[in-house]
Amino acid sequence: MFKEVFADLHIHIGAGSKGDPVKITASRKLNFENILQESLYNKGLGIIGIIDCASPVVLADMDRLLEKGKMEELPAGGIAYGDLVIIPGVEVESREENGGQAHYLGYFPYMRNLREFSQVMAEYISNINLSSQSTGLTGKEIFQLVEAHGGIFVPAHVFTPHKSFYGRCFETYRDLFSPEEWARIPAIELGLSSDTYMADCIPELADKTFISNSDAHSLEKIAREYNLLRVKELNFKELELALWRKEGRKVLKNFGLDPALGKYHRSYCENCNKRFPLEYPVLKCPVCGREDIVVGVKDRIMEISPGKESSSPAHRGPYIHQIPLRDIPGIGEKTFRRLLDSFGTEMDIIHQASEEELLEVLNYKLVERIIKARTGDLEIEDGGGGHYGKVMA
Ligand SMILES: [Zn+2]
Ligand SMILES: [Zn+2]
Repeated sequence: MFKEVFADLHIHIGAGSKGDPVKITASRKLNFENILQESLYNKGLGIIGIIDCASPVVLADMDRLLEKGKMEELPAGGIAYGDLVIIPGVEVESREENGGQAHYLGYFPYMRNLREFSQVMAEYISNINLSSQSTGLTGKEIFQLVEAHGGIFVPAHVFTPHKSFYGRCFETYRDLFSPEEWARIPAIELGLSSDTYMADCIPELADKTFISNSDAHSLEKIAREYNLLRVKELNFKELELALWRKEGRKVLKNFGLDPALGKYHRSYCENCNKRFPLEYPVLKCPVCGREDIVVGVKDRIMEISPGKESSSPAHRGPYIHQIPLRDIPGIGEKTFRRLLDSFGTEMDIIHQASEEELLEVLNYKLVERIIKARTGDLEIEDGGGGHYGKVMA
Protein backbone atom coordinates (compact mmCIF):
# COMPACT_ATOMS: atom_id res chain seq x y z
CA MET A 1 0.00 0.00 0.00
CA PHE A 2 1.32 3.41 -0.97
CA LYS A 3 1.02 6.37 1.31
CA GLU A 4 1.46 10.08 0.75
CA VAL A 5 3.71 12.03 3.03
CA PHE A 6 5.07 15.57 3.27
CA ALA A 7 8.85 15.98 3.28
CA ASP A 8 11.09 19.02 3.85
CA LEU A 9 14.65 17.95 3.10
CA HIS A 10 16.73 21.04 3.85
CA ILE A 11 16.59 22.18 7.48
CA HIS A 12 19.56 23.75 9.24
CA ILE A 13 20.67 23.49 12.86
CA GLY A 14 21.30 26.78 14.66
CA ALA A 15 22.95 25.34 17.74
CA GLY A 16 23.52 22.22 19.78
CA SER A 17 21.27 21.44 22.73
CA LYS A 18 23.88 23.01 25.04
CA GLY A 19 24.01 26.20 22.98
CA ASP A 20 27.19 25.59 20.94
CA PRO A 21 26.76 27.37 17.59
CA VAL A 22 26.39 25.29 14.41
CA LYS A 23 24.96 27.65 11.81
CA ILE A 24 25.87 31.15 12.92
CA THR A 25 23.14 32.88 10.89
CA ALA A 26 20.40 30.55 12.16
CA SER A 27 18.27 30.82 15.26
CA ARG A 28 19.68 29.31 18.48
CA LYS A 29 16.29 27.70 19.08
CA LEU A 30 16.80 25.66 15.94
CA ASN A 31 18.33 22.65 17.71
CA PHE A 32 17.83 19.00 16.86
CA GLU A 33 15.04 18.16 19.29
CA ASN A 34 13.12 21.41 18.72
CA ILE A 35 13.16 20.71 14.97
CA LEU A 36 11.66 17.28 15.54
CA GLN A 37 8.83 18.67 17.64
CA GLU A 38 8.08 21.60 15.34
CA SER A 39 8.09 19.35 12.24
CA LEU A 40 5.90 16.67 13.74
CA TYR A 41 3.39 18.63 15.82
CA ASN A 42 3.11 22.07 14.17
CA LYS A 43 3.97 21.41 10.53
CA GLY A 44 2.61 17.92 9.97
CA LEU A 45 5.68 16.63 8.12
CA GLY A 46 6.46 12.91 7.75
CA ILE A 47 10.08 13.03 6.54
CA ILE A 48 12.66 15.73 7.25
CA GLY A 49 16.23 16.16 6.05
CA ILE A 50 18.46 17.87 8.59
CA ILE A 51 21.55 18.95 6.73
CA ASP A 52 24.04 19.97 9.41
CA CYS A 53 24.50 16.47 10.77
CA ALA A 54 28.23 16.17 10.01
CA SER A 55 28.92 18.68 12.79
CA PRO A 56 30.25 16.81 15.86
CA VAL A 57 28.00 19.07 17.98
CA VAL A 58 24.97 17.68 16.14
CA LEU A 59 26.31 14.11 16.09
CA ALA A 60 26.62 14.26 19.90
CA ASP A 61 22.98 15.45 20.21
CA MET A 62 21.85 12.67 17.90
CA ASP A 63 23.79 10.04 19.88
CA ARG A 64 22.17 11.30 23.08
CA LEU A 65 18.65 11.06 21.65
CA LEU A 66 19.40 7.57 20.29
CA GLU A 67 20.85 6.38 23.61
CA LYS A 68 17.86 7.69 25.56
CA GLY A 69 15.59 5.77 23.21
CA LYS A 70 13.81 8.97 22.07
CA MET A 71 14.61 8.03 18.47
CA GLU A 72 15.93 4.95 16.72
CA GLU A 73 17.81 4.03 13.57
CA LEU A 74 15.76 2.15 10.98
CA PRO A 75 17.00 -1.01 9.22
CA ALA A 76 16.30 0.58 5.80
CA GLY A 77 18.04 3.81 6.81
CA GLY A 78 16.87 7.01 8.43
CA ILE A 79 15.93 7.62 12.05
CA ALA A 80 12.44 7.36 13.52
CA TYR A 81 11.14 9.84 16.09
CA GLY A 82 7.55 8.81 16.71
CA ASP A 83 5.75 9.15 13.38
CA LEU A 84 8.50 11.34 11.94
CA VAL A 85 11.52 10.06 10.02
CA ILE A 86 14.76 12.04 9.95
CA ILE A 87 17.14 11.69 7.03
CA PRO A 88 20.52 12.89 8.27
CA GLY A 89 22.45 14.96 5.76
CA VAL A 90 25.01 17.61 4.99
CA GLU A 91 25.27 20.82 2.97
CA VAL A 92 28.79 21.23 1.63
CA GLU A 93 30.35 24.20 -0.13
CA SER A 94 32.63 23.71 -3.12
CA ARG A 95 35.35 25.77 -4.68
CA GLU A 96 35.10 25.00 -8.38
CA GLU A 97 38.03 25.27 -10.76
CA ASN A 98 36.56 28.44 -12.27
CA GLY A 99 36.55 30.04 -8.81
CA GLY A 100 32.78 29.75 -8.30
CA GLN A 101 31.23 28.31 -5.17
CA ALA A 102 28.25 26.02 -5.02
CA HIS A 103 26.28 24.19 -2.33
CA TYR A 104 25.56 20.48 -2.52
CA LEU A 105 23.35 18.33 -0.31
CA GLY A 106 24.22 14.81 0.76
CA TYR A 107 21.81 12.44 2.52
CA PHE A 108 23.04 9.35 4.33
CA PRO A 109 21.26 6.17 5.43
CA TYR A 110 23.04 5.38 8.71
CA MET A 111 24.87 7.11 11.56
CA ARG A 112 27.93 5.07 10.59
CA ASN A 113 28.03 6.66 7.09
CA LEU A 114 27.48 10.08 8.54
CA ARG A 115 30.24 9.71 11.10
CA GLU A 116 32.71 8.54 8.45
CA PHE A 117 31.74 11.37 6.11
CA SER A 118 32.20 13.84 8.97
CA GLN A 119 35.72 12.53 9.62
CA VAL A 120 36.64 12.95 5.95
CA MET A 121 35.18 16.48 5.86
CA ALA A 122 37.19 17.44 8.96
CA GLU A 123 40.31 17.16 6.79
CA TYR A 124 38.99 19.82 4.40
CA ILE A 125 37.02 22.17 6.63
CA SER A 126 38.76 24.40 9.14
CA ASN A 127 35.92 24.24 11.70
CA ILE A 128 33.90 21.05 11.24
CA ASN A 129 31.49 22.09 14.02
CA LEU A 130 30.03 24.81 11.80
CA SER A 131 27.52 24.44 8.96
CA SER A 132 28.15 24.77 5.18
CA GLN A 133 31.82 25.64 5.52
CA SER A 134 34.01 25.91 2.45
CA THR A 135 35.82 22.66 1.64
CA GLY A 136 38.07 23.71 -1.23
CA LEU A 137 36.81 20.59 -3.04
CA THR A 138 35.14 20.73 -6.44
CA GLY A 139 31.53 19.62 -6.85
CA LYS A 140 32.78 16.54 -8.65
CA GLU A 141 34.96 15.55 -5.69
CA ILE A 142 32.11 16.18 -3.25
CA PHE A 143 29.83 14.03 -5.41
CA GLN A 144 32.37 11.19 -5.37
CA LEU A 145 32.78 11.40 -1.58
CA VAL A 146 29.02 11.43 -0.92
CA GLU A 147 28.60 8.45 -3.25
CA ALA A 148 31.50 6.56 -1.65
CA HIS A 149 29.77 6.87 1.74
CA GLY A 150 26.45 5.51 0.54
CA GLY A 151 24.80 8.90 0.26
CA ILE A 152 22.42 10.60 -2.17
CA PHE A 153 23.89 13.71 -3.82
CA VAL A 154 21.64 16.64 -4.74
CA PRO A 155 22.84 20.06 -5.96
CA ALA A 156 21.27 22.67 -3.63
CA HIS A 157 19.15 25.71 -4.61
CA VAL A 158 20.71 25.43 -8.07
CA PHE A 159 19.91 28.92 -9.41
CA THR A 160 20.68 31.26 -6.50
CA PRO A 161 23.20 33.95 -7.42
CA HIS A 162 25.69 33.49 -4.60
CA LYS A 163 26.49 29.85 -4.07
CA SER A 164 24.97 27.46 -6.54
CA PHE A 165 25.53 25.20 -9.51
CA TYR A 166 23.81 27.15 -12.30
CA GLY A 167 23.47 30.47 -10.52
CA ARG A 168 27.15 30.98 -9.85
CA CYS A 169 29.27 28.31 -11.50
CA PHE A 170 28.08 26.57 -14.65
CA GLU A 171 25.86 26.91 -17.71
CA THR A 172 25.49 23.17 -18.23
CA TYR A 173 26.26 20.01 -16.24
CA ARG A 174 28.96 19.19 -18.81
CA ASP A 175 31.08 21.97 -17.35
CA LEU A 176 31.56 19.74 -14.27
CA PHE A 177 30.22 16.21 -14.64
CA SER A 178 30.60 13.44 -17.20
CA PRO A 179 27.29 12.15 -18.63
CA GLU A 180 27.78 8.96 -16.54
CA GLU A 181 28.18 10.96 -13.33
CA TRP A 182 25.26 13.24 -14.16
CA ALA A 183 23.10 10.16 -14.68
CA ARG A 184 23.86 9.06 -11.09
CA ILE A 185 22.35 12.23 -9.62
CA PRO A 186 18.60 11.72 -9.08
CA ALA A 187 17.42 15.23 -8.24
CA ILE A 188 18.11 18.92 -7.94
CA GLU A 189 16.78 21.38 -5.39
CA LEU A 190 14.88 24.30 -6.91
CA GLY A 191 15.47 26.95 -4.25
CA LEU A 192 13.07 29.57 -2.97
CA SER A 193 13.25 31.94 -5.93
CA SER A 194 12.35 29.41 -8.62
CA ASP A 195 9.73 26.80 -9.36
CA THR A 196 9.21 23.81 -11.65
CA TYR A 197 7.99 25.90 -14.57
CA MET A 198 11.09 28.11 -14.53
CA ALA A 199 13.49 25.16 -14.16
CA ASP A 200 11.79 23.26 -16.98
CA CYS A 201 13.16 25.89 -19.39
CA ILE A 202 16.43 23.97 -19.10
CA PRO A 203 16.22 20.80 -21.21
CA GLU A 204 19.07 18.94 -19.46
CA LEU A 205 16.98 18.89 -16.26
CA ALA A 206 14.13 16.91 -17.80
CA ASP A 207 15.24 13.62 -16.21
CA LYS A 208 15.90 15.07 -12.77
CA THR A 209 13.36 14.96 -9.99
CA PHE A 210 12.80 18.44 -8.56
CA ILE A 211 12.69 18.93 -4.82
CA SER A 212 11.58 22.06 -3.01
CA ASN A 213 12.72 22.59 0.56
CA SER A 214 12.60 25.33 3.17
CA ASP A 215 16.37 25.88 3.79
CA ALA A 216 15.01 26.89 7.19
CA HIS A 217 17.21 29.01 9.46
CA SER A 218 14.48 29.23 12.14
CA LEU A 219 11.72 26.99 13.48
CA GLU A 220 8.97 29.10 11.89
CA LYS A 221 10.43 28.71 8.40
CA ILE A 222 10.38 24.90 8.44
CA ALA A 223 8.08 23.69 5.62
CA ARG A 224 7.78 27.03 3.85
CA GLU A 225 8.60 24.71 0.91
CA TYR A 226 8.15 20.93 0.89
CA ASN A 227 7.40 17.90 -1.26
CA LEU A 228 4.54 15.44 -1.35
CA LEU A 229 6.04 11.96 -1.72
CA ARG A 230 4.41 8.67 -2.61
CA VAL A 231 6.19 5.88 -0.75
CA LYS A 232 5.37 2.59 0.98
CA GLU A 233 7.23 3.22 4.22
CA LEU A 234 9.04 6.13 5.76
CA ASN A 235 12.78 5.49 5.56
CA PHE A 236 15.93 6.34 3.60
CA LYS A 237 15.53 3.55 1.04
CA GLU A 238 12.00 4.67 0.17
CA LEU A 239 13.12 8.29 -0.20
CA GLU A 240 15.88 7.14 -2.54
CA LEU A 241 13.35 5.20 -4.65
CA ALA A 242 11.08 8.27 -4.76
CA LEU A 243 13.89 10.53 -5.96
CA TRP A 244 14.71 7.98 -8.70
CA ARG A 245 10.98 7.48 -9.49
CA LYS A 246 11.31 3.71 -9.15
CA GLU A 247 8.76 1.02 -8.28
CA GLY A 248 5.88 3.48 -8.12
CA ARG A 249 7.56 5.81 -5.64
CA LYS A 250 7.90 9.44 -6.66
CA VAL A 251 7.64 13.09 -5.77
CA LEU A 252 3.97 13.73 -6.57
CA LYS A 253 3.90 17.48 -6.04
CA ASN A 254 6.07 20.34 -4.93
CA PHE A 255 4.75 23.03 -2.64
CA GLY A 256 6.67 26.24 -2.48
CA LEU A 257 6.77 29.96 -2.23
CA ASP A 258 5.54 31.89 -5.14
CA PRO A 259 9.01 32.42 -6.66
CA ALA A 260 8.33 36.17 -6.81
CA LEU A 261 8.54 36.10 -2.98
CA GLY A 262 12.04 34.57 -3.05
CA LYS A 263 14.86 36.92 -2.18
CA TYR A 264 16.78 36.39 -5.41
CA HIS A 265 13.92 36.23 -7.91
CA ARG A 266 14.89 39.24 -10.06
CA SER A 267 18.10 41.17 -10.64
CA TYR A 268 18.94 43.89 -8.16
CA CYS A 269 21.37 46.81 -8.25
CA GLU A 270 22.77 47.77 -4.88
CA ASN A 271 23.94 51.13 -6.18
CA CYS A 272 20.42 52.14 -7.27
CA ASN A 273 18.62 50.02 -4.65
CA LYS A 274 16.27 48.82 -7.39
CA ARG A 275 14.85 45.55 -8.66
CA PHE A 276 14.03 45.12 -12.35
CA PRO A 277 11.03 42.93 -13.13
CA LEU A 278 11.47 43.11 -16.91
CA GLU A 279 10.55 40.76 -19.74
CA TYR A 280 14.19 40.09 -20.61
CA PRO A 281 17.16 39.02 -18.46
CA VAL A 282 18.73 41.97 -16.68
CA LEU A 283 22.49 41.32 -16.49
CA LYS A 284 23.65 44.87 -15.87
CA CYS A 285 21.85 47.76 -14.24
CA PRO A 286 19.56 49.48 -16.78
CA VAL A 287 19.81 52.70 -14.74
CA CYS A 288 23.46 53.19 -13.74
CA GLY A 289 25.03 50.63 -16.06
CA ARG A 290 26.96 48.77 -13.36
CA GLU A 291 27.72 45.14 -14.07
CA ASP A 292 28.21 43.97 -10.48
CA ILE A 293 24.50 43.56 -9.84
CA VAL A 294 22.96 40.55 -8.07
CA VAL A 295 21.53 38.62 -11.00
CA GLY A 296 18.06 37.23 -10.30
CA VAL A 297 17.19 33.55 -10.61
CA LYS A 298 14.68 34.28 -13.35
CA ASP A 299 17.23 36.43 -15.17
CA ARG A 300 19.88 33.72 -14.93
CA ILE A 301 17.52 31.04 -16.26
CA MET A 302 16.62 33.27 -19.22
CA GLU A 303 20.33 33.88 -19.77
CA ILE A 304 21.41 30.21 -19.90
CA SER A 305 18.37 28.96 -21.84
CA PRO A 306 17.75 31.76 -24.33
CA GLY A 307 14.46 31.51 -26.17
CA LYS A 308 13.50 28.23 -24.45
CA GLU A 309 9.87 27.81 -23.46
CA SER A 310 9.07 25.89 -20.29
CA SER A 311 8.21 22.31 -21.12
CA SER A 312 7.67 19.77 -18.35
CA PRO A 313 8.27 16.04 -18.89
CA ALA A 314 5.35 13.66 -18.32
CA HIS A 315 6.71 12.40 -14.97
CA ARG A 316 6.73 15.89 -13.47
CA GLY A 317 4.01 16.70 -10.94
CA PRO A 318 2.56 20.15 -10.42
CA TYR A 319 4.22 22.86 -8.36
CA ILE A 320 1.72 24.40 -5.97
CA HIS A 321 2.49 27.98 -5.04
CA GLN A 322 1.83 28.79 -1.44
CA ILE A 323 2.24 31.76 0.77
CA PRO A 324 3.26 31.17 4.39
CA LEU A 325 0.55 32.47 6.72
CA ARG A 326 2.85 34.91 8.47
CA ASP A 327 3.67 36.56 5.12
CA ILE A 328 0.04 37.55 4.72
CA PRO A 329 -0.45 41.15 5.90
CA GLY A 330 -2.51 41.20 9.08
CA ILE A 331 -1.48 37.76 10.34
CA GLY A 332 0.90 38.35 13.22
CA GLU A 333 2.19 35.95 15.83
CA LYS A 334 -0.97 36.10 17.96
CA THR A 335 -3.36 35.43 15.10
CA PHE A 336 -1.07 32.67 13.85
CA ARG A 337 -1.14 30.90 17.24
CA ARG A 338 -4.93 31.23 17.39
CA LEU A 339 -5.17 29.62 13.97
CA LEU A 340 -2.89 26.75 14.99
CA ASP A 341 -4.97 26.17 18.13
CA SER A 342 -8.10 25.90 16.00
CA PHE A 343 -6.83 23.93 12.99
CA GLY A 344 -3.77 21.96 14.08
CA THR A 345 -1.09 22.58 11.50
CA GLU A 346 -0.13 25.43 9.19
CA MET A 347 -0.68 23.15 6.18
CA ASP A 348 -4.24 22.45 7.26
CA ILE A 349 -4.89 26.19 7.33
CA ILE A 350 -3.12 27.01 4.05
CA HIS A 351 -4.68 24.20 2.05
CA GLN A 352 -7.69 22.71 3.74
CA ALA A 353 -9.69 24.84 6.14
CA SER A 354 -12.91 25.99 4.49
CA GLU A 355 -13.98 29.61 4.25
CA GLU A 356 -16.73 29.01 6.82
CA GLU A 357 -14.32 27.39 9.28
CA LEU A 358 -11.82 30.24 8.88
CA LEU A 359 -14.57 32.82 9.44
CA GLU A 360 -15.13 31.37 12.90
CA VAL A 361 -11.63 32.45 13.89
CA LEU A 362 -10.78 35.42 11.64
CA ASN A 363 -12.39 38.50 10.21
CA TYR A 364 -13.61 38.52 6.62
CA LYS A 365 -10.68 40.51 5.27
CA LEU A 366 -8.07 38.03 6.52
CA VAL A 367 -10.09 35.03 5.38
CA GLU A 368 -10.30 36.57 1.92
CA ARG A 369 -6.51 36.95 1.85
CA ILE A 370 -5.97 33.30 2.82
CA ILE A 371 -8.35 32.18 0.08
CA LYS A 372 -6.63 34.46 -2.45
CA ALA A 373 -3.25 33.09 -1.38
CA ARG A 374 -4.52 29.62 -2.37
CA THR A 375 -5.47 30.72 -5.85
CA GLY A 376 -2.46 32.93 -6.55
CA ASP A 377 -4.58 36.08 -6.55
CA LEU A 378 -2.59 38.13 -4.07
CA GLU A 379 -0.49 40.93 -5.48
CA ILE A 380 3.25 40.41 -4.91
CA GLU A 381 6.19 42.77 -5.19
CA ASP A 382 9.14 40.80 -6.65
CA GLY A 383 12.05 39.88 -4.39
CA GLY A 384 15.68 40.42 -5.42
CA GLY A 385 19.20 41.14 -4.19
CA GLY A 386 18.64 39.38 -0.86
CA HIS A 387 15.32 41.10 -0.12
CA TYR A 388 12.27 38.88 0.04
CA GLY A 389 9.30 39.75 -2.13
CA LYS A 390 6.26 41.18 -0.36
CA VAL A 391 2.59 40.42 -0.36
CA MET A 392 0.80 43.71 -0.89
CA ALA A 393 -2.08 44.47 1.48
ZN1 LIG B 1 23.02 26.64 0.67
ZN1 LIG C 1 21.07 25.72 3.38
